[in-house]
Amino acid sequence: MQTNKEKELIFEMSKPGRVAYSLPESDVPEVELDAVFPAQYLRKQPAELPEVSELDLMRHYTGLSNRNHGIDSGFYPLGSCTMKYNPKINEDVVRYPGFAKIHPYQAEETMQGALRVLYDLQAELSEITGMDAVSLQPAAGAQGEWAALMMIRAYHESRGEKRTKVIVPDTAHGTNPASAAVAGLETVTISSDEQGNVNLEELRKVVGADTAALMLTNPSTLGLFEESIQEIAEIVHEAGGLLYYDGANANAIMGIARPGDMGFDVVHLNLHKTFTGPHGGGGPGAGPIGCKKELVPFLPRPQVVKEGDTYRLDYDIPQSIGRVKAFYGNFGILLRSFVYIRANGPEGLLRVSQEAVLNANYMMRKLAPYYDLPYDRICKHEFVLSGRKQKKLGVRTLDIAKRLLDFGYHPPTIYFPLIVDECMMIEPTETESKETLDQFIDAMIAIAKEVEENPTIVQEAPHTTIVSRLDEVTAARKPVLRYRKPAEENAVRKAEGSQANEGALV
Ligand SMILES: *Cc1c(COP(=O)(O)O)cnc(C)c1O
Repeated sequence: MQTNKEKELIFEMSKPGRVAYSLPESDVPEVELDAVFPAQYLRKQPAELPEVSELDLMRHYTGLSNRNHGIDSGFYPLGSCTMKYNPKINEDVVRYPGFAKIHPYQAEETMQGALRVLYDLQAELSEITGMDAVSLQPAAGAQGEWAALMMIRAYHESRGEKRTKVIVPDTAHGTNPASAAVAGLETVTISSDEQGNVNLEELRKVVGADTAALMLTNPSTLGLFEESIQEIAEIVHEAGGLLYYDGANANAIMGIARPGDMGFDVVHLNLHKTFTGPHGGGGPGAGPIGCKKELVPFLPRPQVVKEGDTYRLDYDIPQSIGRVKAFYGNFGILLRSFVYIRANGPEGLLRVSQEAVLNANYMMRKLAPYYDLPYDRICKHEFVLSGRKQKKLGVRTLDIAKRLLDFGYHPPTIYFPLIVDECMMIEPTETESKETLDQFIDAMIAIAKEVEENPTIVQEAPHTTIVSRLDEVTAARKPVLRYRKPAEENAVRKAEGSQANEGALV
């Protein structure tokens, strides 16, 4: 049954013969398809496509897009994801025909401008991270982690050493152990202490001749800057291991501190977070990696190099781990980040980090009287709260997140990091005004009061969205990605042994 909140599917709007185009009469002879393509590749019946007018089509998709929450429509404090504003000048520049219309197979002398962007960006990111060289190829933070771990493996192997263990603190991002596994290495988890720092005693116990590297997410997923970095670096280096800096959240440290100066050998950055590549819909990202001299021979190939006044691609890297991405990485995202870096300059990037940290601390202090603050320290770009107090009154963090939707906000990251009970991880970013921060703080305080006075309203939220609570597990495990008429869908589900769901699609 349709309520007025629900939209018809485009298939349900379909009326036979209605079209969204008009073409002139064909003035060339028609060709039978089976004269051109082998019969086994042809459909037996025409594809069942919706038939709608151009205006209906436009309204349908505009309506759907309006249901989406994006950074251009509202506050989006999703911890660890740095959902900051993406300046529109980036979009202008990537649309310049000189960038938008080049092809990676063009001769190098005809794409000197694009190669220069890549070369300069490599140099800028080396400077920002304090590393000797950078590869722009990896398409995401996680891919950067994997590529860098493959370099670490190659480095140890080139020295005839068999080192297979990667030490990962329990405050690391979840991709760290996952990347180690995909790189064929074994993860050793160590705990953090009451302050949220790496437990050095435990580190001393597990480090040894089989240590390939330690991966440090810094600031950690608690939003805290690790206080014993120098000691950690000494312990790991003394044992012959390398130090990996997960710099996905460089928004907290740009222009203030550099992983290279802290003793790290390799780092990745998330350009789609810190450096304003638009993200959130699973679109293209960029996770460049930077490294110190000893790892340079293992960088992915090609690297962009400069000889005299000419930029070219260097494939002559004999010990390279090889190519990790088609061509030279996601050029559009790299170019946006280049524009962002140039538009801000060094002082601008420093201010970005200072204000990101200031905003997070402001919000943390304002919310601390209402929600449990498990680590009471100055935070960096984000902070974690616990919904422990509210849980005692029967309201879960999930309920609070859902209730925030009624206030028009994207909820924070919840239930991560795992070491904090009923966790909420909040990252306001530097691009929000004090008024926006205050409005969100007021909403969080209002919810905390509701929990005490009228918990049902929170437990049953959201009330103002198109749909209320969804079965998120089924949606994730058994997504319906293809339209079939309801009867057909039910038949398929029955055949698959899952419960037929009357009206699932209407
Ligand atoms: C986002 C993030 C990653 C993973 O980056 P993706 O681009 O999503 O693969 C890794 N580490 C940290 C700390 C992150 O915040």
